Order: sequence, then structure tokens, then C-alpha cells
Amino acid sequence: MTDTPTQLFIGGSWLDAADGATMPVDDPATGEIIARVADAGAKDARLAEAAAVQAQEEWARTAPRARSEILRRAYEIILERTDGLAHLMTAEMGKPLAEARGEVAYAAEFFRWFSEEAVRIDGGGGILPDGRNRMLLSRRPVGPCLLITPWNFPLAMGTRKIGPAIAAGCTMILKPAPQTPLSSLALAAILQEAGLPDGVLNVVTTSRAGEVCEPLLRGGRIRKLSFTGSTNVGRLLLAQSAEAVVRTSMELGGNAPFIVFEDADLDKAVDGAMLAKMRNMGEACTAANRFFVHHSVAEEFGRRLAERMGALVVGPGTQDGVDVGPLIDRTGRAKVEELVADAVERGAQVLVGGRAPEGPGCFYPPTVLTDVDSGSRLMDTEIFGPVAAILTFDDEDEVIRRANDTPWGLVGYVFTEGLDRALRVSERLEVGMVGLNTGLVSNPAAPFGGVKQSGLGREGGRVGIDEFLEYQYLAVPVR
Ligand code: NAP
Repeated sequence: MTDTPTQLFIGGSWLDAADGATMPVDDPATGEIIARVADAGAKDARLAEAAAVQAQEEWARTAPRARSEILRRAYEIILERTDGLAHLMTAEMGKPLAEARGEVAYAAEFFRWFSEEAVRIDGGGGILPDGRNRMLLSRRPVGPCLLITPWNFPLAMGTRKIGPAIAAGCTMILKPAPQTPLSSLALAAILQEAGLPDGVLNVVTTSRAGEVCEPLLRGGRIRKLSFTGSTNVGRLLLAQSAEAVVRTSMELGGNAPFIVFEDADLDKAVDGAMLAKMRNMGEACTAANRFFVHHSVAEEFGRRLAERMGALVVGPGTQDGVDVGPLIDRTGRAKVEELVADAVERGAQVLVGGRAPEGPGCFYPPTVLTDVDSGSRLMDTEIFGPVAAILTFDDEDEVIRRANDTPWGLVGYVFTEGLDRALRVSERLEVGMVGLNTGLVSNPAAPFGGVKQSGLGREGGRVGIDEFLEYQYLAVPVR
């Protein structure tokens, strides 16, 4: 960690905050401060904006192949440094090392994917229907972008935005979450080493998000906001973006239903539940939040899930054999404790877990609740922790209605061995993604995103780059 940068990255230089402010970064497993990083204010944001604006024109003119090769080099460097990056991520975020290594590979893959897309940006053209005009269509970068990321996937949420922005020819300012700034700073250093020109990527770490971001969004020079985070903050940023009509992509919260029908293969369903619930300690927007299990298999499913959850080892992510690291901070853990207490007060049974351990660190044990009342707060709140809440249902129409009865629509999971039912239910779920007999949907080659209040736009896949491109249409008379 000693060689990880801790300053702001602006115009290709590493700088202290203009007012000299710094902020601590904690290890959630111990509560100890592991680093101090620069804490940017409004003045630093203006400097980063000027750097991004100044670099935009030349970057847009840079050959797509050159942009592609920078991404490809960065992809290779990230993979070479997997171990160091994984340790850094575990130290600032808490996830077990094996998961951190998995995230490094996932994050790198966005760079490889978009290095391949950078050279496939196409236009179009032809004679218009009236026969008097030709149409020439070209695609251009949208312009300088503001990228705001959360703490739960410190590297991948950055590469999922930076990759397509670089590929499209946009410059950018990245504002990572204050809990996990080190992974983003390490990433900036790698991109610089890979040959990214000065000013294309600027990173401002800050504890003063509003002070830094609002003037950028209202100022008219930033042309695009790509945000991943909670729906409440997304809504606020959409309002701020309205003033200068900034284009927006929003990856917001989820409240995923996980539906197990009576004809499901329970081995697959329990394996899927472990992934959909326990990836990232449950701190994922894709985490299964509401388990709807057909009443005829609910008892067996609950028992088997509780056995698997109870066997997981909780502890610091750096220790061998640990499956479940700490939650991000005390606030995150207190929220999980309150949600479980509320469910229990309304009659839920605790099959396993349910009580935070004493001692340092923000640990919470894998927990399975059954007989959960549908009025419980965890039904309409993202739990963001290792808690599986099980409800039962009787028929298909009923479960679809209950699954859709939420303002969110990111992902849903469906377990059934019937093909007709699988397709019918998936089509009726109001979500952007469905895991069919699987608990994992995320993949850089697939369009990731939600409907309803889970967001706007898609990241990854063939369409991920579209979010960073505009069309220009040229009318040319036929003479
Ligand atoms: P959050 O509180 O919304 O914060 C996300 C980011 O927004 C952080 O960098 C945060 O910085 C920043 N932010 C907060 N207020 C801001 C403001 N007024 N102006 C500018 N930036 C501001 O979310 P979180 O707790 O970090 O992350 C968890 C949420 O992210 C969950 O709801 C989860 O579902 C969602 N998420 C969604 C996806 C997806 O792809 N759909 C993926 C991962 C996570 P500060 O902390 O300094 O305020």
C-alpha cells in the first residue's frame, strides 16, 4: 500500500487539495486508519473540470485504435497486478481476498471489452426517402463526463464507466466513494502508465461530494453524468443535471425478488441463493432482497439455505478460509441490525445468525429469516447485508404481482424447471435483468441496468458505449 497514490490526479499530475485537506480511509475489519488521501473542494473540482475540458478536443481526434490500445495495455497491467490490487481493495472495503481477486478480473474485463468496442464505433448513411438528400451519420463523443461511483465494487464500478468513456473519446472526472478512494487512485496510476494522455482522466477524492459535484453539473461544461449509487442520491443528481441539460446514465438501487417455484431444482436454487445473496456480503445492488418460495418447498429450502449460510466463516477478508468479511461501516451494519429487529418484531423466525458479534470491525453473520411479514421494512429497503428474508406464495400470478410491487426494477431471479413458466414469468417481471436458474447476472459483455427507479441506461455490452456517444447527421443534397 506504501506506493499507492493518495493525492488528487488532475491534468496528469498528482496534487494535494488546494486547501491542504485530507481524509482518512478505514479498514472496516479493524476500524483502523490505513491511509489519508487528499480531500478535494470546489477549487480542485474547477481545476479538474478545466483539465478535462482542455483535453477533450484532442482526445476526440485521437485514433480509435490508439484509444483501444491504451485500454488493452491497462487491462494487461491490472491483471499482472491482481494480487496488489486485491489486497488494497480488501483493506479499504473489507471483502475477502478471493472475492477481491474476482473483482479485479471482472473490472479488467471492462477494459478489454471496451478496447474491442473502441474500434467498432459505426455511423451510417444513405439516400433519404424523398431522393433529394443524402444522410451521413457519424458518432462523436458526448464530451467531458462526470463519473460518480459507490464503495461496494471499488474497481469495477470505475472501469465500467471509464472503459466506455475512453473508448468513445470522452474526457472525464471520476469521483469515487470516500470509503474506497485508493482503488480508484491506483487505477489512475495504471492508466497513466498505459499511456493515457494528461487530462483525459482526472480523479477527485472528496468527503464533500455536493460541494465538488453540484457546480460541475450546473456549470454547463460537463456534458454527461454517469452515476452508480442509491436511488435517493440519483434523484437529486438528476434534478441538478436538469439545469444545464446534462445527459445522464443512472445505475441505482435494487430490491431483487428471488422466486423459487414448486418445480425448481432445489440444489440449483440453494446454490443460486448463496450467490445472489452472499456475493460481496450482500452489499450488491443485484443482491436478492426478497425470497419468495412456493409454500410446498419453503421449509426444505429454508433449512438447506440456513445450513449453507451457517457454515460460512466470518472474519477479516485477509485471513485464509474467510468467506464473509465485514460490512462497509458502522452505519451500514446498524441499518442491517434495525431491519432484522423490525422483521423479528413482526413475527419472523431466525433460522441462523441474527446477532452482530462483539468486538472491533463491522461484522454481521449470515442470517436466514422465515415467516417474514410482508409489511416488514426489509421488504421495501435494500438490506445491503448477508440477510435472506423468506416469504411464501401459492400461485404464479400472485408471486409476480408481489415481486413487481416495488418502485425498483433492477434484477429478478427465477428458479423453475419448466421452460414455458421460466419464459412467461421472466417476461412479466418488471426488471432490466433476469437470472434464470442462476444467481449471477453481471458480465461485462451483457447490458447491465434497471427499469423503474433502478435507473436509466445500460452499462457494458454492445450498448454500453452508446451512453458516451452522440449522433451527428449531415444532410447532403443529391446533385
Ligand atoms: P450513495 O450514498 O448514493 O453514494 C454513491 C456515490 O454518490 C458516492 O460516491 C457518494 O459520495 C456520492 N454522492 C452522494 N451524495 C452526493 C451528492 N449530493 N453529489 C454528488 N455525489 C454524491 O450510495 P452508496 O451507499 O455508496 O452505494 C450503495 C448504493 O449503490 C445502493 O443503493 C446500490 O444498490 C447502488 N448500486 C447500484 C449499482 C447498479 O449498477 N445499479 C451498482 C452498485 C451499487 P459520498 O459518500 O461522499 O456522499
